[in-house]
Amino acid sequence: MIKNGRVYDHGGDVNMPAIADILILDGKVAAVRAGIAAAMARNEPVAELGSRRVDETIDATDKLVMPGFVNSHYHSHDVLLKGVFETIPLELWVLSALPPSYPKRSKAEIRARVLLGAIECLRSGITTVQDLATIYPFDEEHLDVMLQAYEDVGIRCVFALQIADVPGVKSIPFWDEVVPADQRGVLSGAVEPFKDIDLPSLVRDLYRTRKNRHPRITWALGPSSPERCSVGLLESLADFSNSENLPVYTHIYESKAMTLIARQSHQKDGGSLITYLQRTGLLSPHLTLAHSVWMSEPEIETLGNAGTHVALNPVGNLKTRSGVAPIRSYMNKHVNVGLGCDNCSCSDAQNMFQSMKMFASLAAICDPEPGPPTAADAIWSATVGGARTAGMQDKVGALKPGMAADLSIIDLTDPSFVPLNSVARQVVFTESGRGVETVIVDGRIVVRDRKITTIDERALREEVAELMKELRKDIDAVVARNARMMPYLMEAHRRTWAADIGLNRYVGNH
Ligand SMILES: [Zn+2]
Repeated sequence: MIKNGRVYDHGGDVNMPAIADILILDGKVAAVRAGIAAAMARNEPVAELGSRRVDETIDATDKLVMPGFVNSHYHSHDVLLKGVFETIPLELWVLSALPPSYPKRSKAEIRARVLLGAIECLRSGITTVQDLATIYPFDEEHLDVMLQAYEDVGIRCVFALQIADVPGVKSIPFWDEVVPADQRGVLSGAVEPFKDIDLPSLVRDLYRTRKNRHPRITWALGPSSPERCSVGLLESLADFSNSENLPVYTHIYESKAMTLIARQSHQKDGGSLITYLQRTGLLSPHLTLAHSVWMSEPEIETLGNAGTHVALNPVGNLKTRSGVAPIRSYMNKHVNVGLGCDNCSCSDAQNMFQSMKMFASLAAICDPEPGPPTAADAIWSATVGGARTAGMQDKVGALKPGMAADLSIIDLTDPSFVPLNSVARQVVFTESGRGVETVIVDGRIVVRDRKITTIDERALREEVAELMKELRKDIDAVVARNARMMPYLMEAHRRTWAADIGLNRYVGNH
């Protein structure tokens, strides 16, 4: 029982949510209304409770009860690299941060990074995370370590293995022209682990053998990005998604380079990756397109008609110098928007409050006219919008009877909420995550008094310190390697930035 809290209701008064009690039974919200606790104190029957008794009551007086946030775009693979990089262009960051540039990691490191990333999410009120995970080199044991870590920490996870079958050097403009042949190998790492593996069969087998193994883990498909996947691979994923009703997550038009390569290499589709996706059968309500920064207006229209979602990552897009997504256009064309916090080394925080504030604020440079997204729109995207990207809108994202008990309890006596003028606006524009006290997932308290209950955080910190001795050496080696390639990579970037692709997602002198 959570009693006497202000319960955020998307359809109610978002500025001053009504005070109510929440009864949680078997991991689900059983009732949300005022007076349940009072009735119980008077020994009056509570219909939903029947003859059962409440085993724990949380007093939420002067607190806000929020639906848990859905982190719609995230990767657990670089959690230990937070704070390692300045704001470098996306393609340079990819080479510096992602697993294909690093030797195989230990199982201990894989487990530690999944736990740490999930703890950071939970501590800021994220109860569902979509992990688009790269396992390099691919190893089923590592996959199982990850899934077990998610189960142990207690967060809800929509898991997708990131896959591709087109070498990286073919998916970045000018790299095969300017980078010397003997150094191009490092650009193709992402597809190497799958060289001798039939990807569609692998994905089907992993799903079939593990789909019901972990109660809070559901599955999705993760083609890395359309330009890094062949027609055959995308067609087979579309079939599999349709037959098993599985969400599909992919990256698209994150940077100008990712958009220019589409113009150059997908002329058959008029230079549009949306047309390419449509041709493979993937453009459907199952599909979520992460980033979508350099999407054109006609393409946005197509997404709206297809019911395809976008997962915007405004903080990561700024940190990787990728530009600003056309937020207002997505809203105008009724494209469902989820929000993500992206990688730990390109955003670098798993903090939905930062994402919501950026989402609501960056609309200012899309259009000076006041209008959406409002603060309540940002909260909607961080909850219901995200749930829709996972096909879980009937389960998470709102606090209603029958929904999963996934929520956070936020201290309204924190200076962020004093005086309390508008819950929605103060959650989005003022709160930093500092006020998140309690987090419940699936009816279980996983954060209590700001501390994780499922994992020994001190032991994890000590283990991470030990693991970093090895990882730091590898980071130094990768940074040194990339420094040698930098003149070529910057030349490729400058050619990209100078190209006219009929769109601009930067402001200023460009
Ligand atoms: Zn991503």
